[in-house]
Amino acid sequence: MQKYTARISTLVSTLFTAAALLLSACGKLNIGEFASYVSTFEAEAAARGQELHVDNLVIKLDSSLPNTIRAQCQERPFATPTIAVNQTIWDKSSDEDKEALLMHELGHCVLHRDHKKGDFPDGTAISLMRAVSPYGKSYEAHRQYYLDELFDNND
Ligand SMILES: [Zn+2]
Repeated sequence: MQKYTARISTLVSTLFTAAALLLSACGKLNIGEFASYVSTFEAEAAARGQELHVDNLVIKLDSSLPNTIRAQCQERPFATPTIAVNQTIWDKSSDEDKEALLMHELGHCVLHRDHKKGDFPDGTAISLMRAVSPYGKSYEAHRQYYLDELFDNND
């Protein structure tokens, strides 16, 4: 009986592995109006010597997110990583806010970075990956630094 159980679980794990390989082999890219941000992300990575090609990602506007959440990277087993963007906030955001927000979420969904705590003494966030990520003005003032830090993940 024990032997039978073991064989079943081996079969199940083999099936899961096969499914995972199959899914990762055929990535899905559905980024619509956000394509320019993904291009910027790839270009900034390349400028820092990182060959990054985003080919498995969904980015979509979502009007059901609460107004405390600007965007969210959603990762589930066997599903394409998805960035849901709060439509209400997005529509009111400046270009710099939009780029800062997308770079943060791409940090989660593509670079698989977690949040990073901390501020400089003047209150500036030490990372775009801070839970409350820098808004446009701060991002614009320190863009090179934030992008260097984003792609130089040593936390
Ligand atoms: Zn985040």
